Amino acid sequence: MDFTNIKCDEHAGQSSCLYCNMCEILVCPTCVAKVHKKHDLIEISDTYNSKVERLKKDKKKMQKSNSKMNVKKDQLNKLVSAENSKYNKEKQNILSHEKTVKEQVEQYFKELKNKLEQNHITVITTVKSDLNALSLFTTQKEDKITEVQDCIDISNASEFFKEVKKMEKFTETQEPQTKPSYSSSPKFVPGNINQSNIGSLQDDGNLSADINISLIINNAYQTELDEIAFDSKTFNNNNNNTFFYSNFFGTETCDIVLGNQYSCHMTSGLKAYE
Ligand SMILES: [Zn+2]
Ligand SMILES: [Zn+2]
Repeated sequence: MDFTNIKCDEHAGQSSCLYCNMCEILVCPTCVAKVHKKHDLIEISDTYNSKVERLKKDKKKMQKSNSKMNVKKDQLNKLVSAENSKYNKEKQNILSHEKTVKEQVEQYFKELKNKLEQNHITVITTVKSDLNALSLFTTQKEDKITEVQDCIDISNASEFFKEVKKMEKFTETQEPQTKPSYSSSPKFVPGNINQSNIGSLQDDGNLSADINISLIINNAYQTELDEIAFDSKTFNNNNNNTFFYSNFFGTETCDIVLGNQYSCHMTSGLKAYE
């Protein structure tokens, strides 16, 4: 950069020769003589270099801060998708339980109605059986009463005495026994449905992204070989879900098996990793 020909803003025809650190401006010899003589005056190139250094530091700091924020952004995005799938899962659980409870409730009401009907039939059968016995009795008695009246009405003496002998037997028949009381159908007492019948929502702790695997590739290599094949290997994940992949060659396809164990099938590939 050329620092030799910077025109002074204040004095026409003059070039700035120094930087006044106190006033934070470039100054020409006239400026220095008039105002800045006793100020802290520095070489322009030195000032330039230190200012550029300062800017570079600021830039680095901002980049570092941004990449930190980007990592956090990724984490929050993962939490959003974890929360979404959690919500969908729990909603599905509620819906399926709702269906089950509805079926159970329907079944229970069916049973209640059946039970009531059975009880009702028993009560009615008992009462009606006594009622039938009484009806039979009264019908038979009505006939007898008519016959007795006919007997009373007989005007012929010898006929009367013949008939009256028969009549005396009829009046002795026993009255049918009825029960002293009859139990009625049960009454329905409505109950309440509450949380314990249906279930409730409970605190489930903090949001966390379920599976957090990061594959760290240190170096990538090219090979002339057509195919590099490997038997499947099983790796233990000992490092907080961070899967360190090293010293194997071939492209990888990873299958998550269970918990903290991963099964890695190394298939053919021209690209290899160390
Ligand atoms: Zn000047
Ligand atoms: Zn000054």
